[in-house]
Amino acid sequence: MAILKILEFPDPRLRTKARSVEKVDAALRQLIDDLFETMYAAPGIGLAATQVDIHQRLLVADVSADQTDPQVLINPQILAKDGTQVTEEGCLSVPGFYEEVERAEHIRVCFLDRDGVVVENEFSGLLAACVQHEIDHLDGRLFVDYLSEAKRQRIRKRLLKDRRLQAVV
Ligand code: ZN
Repeated sequence: MAILKILEFPDPRLRTKARSVEKVDAALRQLIDDLFETMYAAPGIGLAATQVDIHQRLLVADVSADQTDPQVLINPQILAKDGTQVTEEGCLSVPGFYEEVERAEHIRVCFLDRDGVVVENEFSGLLAACVQHEIDHLDGRLFVDYLSEAKRQRIRKRLLKDRRLQAVV
């Protein structure tokens, strides 16, 4: 197992659209274990492969308080959405910032599990918000994209200043 390096906004690699996973094999399961280890160590409740610079459609999540509800979604596709909820979201790629984002309250998702079996499942509440947030990552989208341009620029400047980096985008 290994803790992977998490990319931070505004790193342009976070804008990459991930490709579908073609084979669920031992190497992919190793990556899944590493994603969980990285997410739990951070600590966070969700992590998409995009965030560790691996551009395959794969995400992990666990919104339980005691790390007892690990979820793996490979090639996730949202089939249906219902209701709305506003959640205060954070992101391991946007450290230190929390903002309200509106998303569907319930979603029905089709995906492959860690054995490569097709699963259809419904998620609600925090887990639904988390899965939508992580699927956004796979499409190169970040939660700051839902905020005003002014707010997003403030966050960007703060993070760049914190890292003493020059803007690249
Ligand atoms: Zn995130």
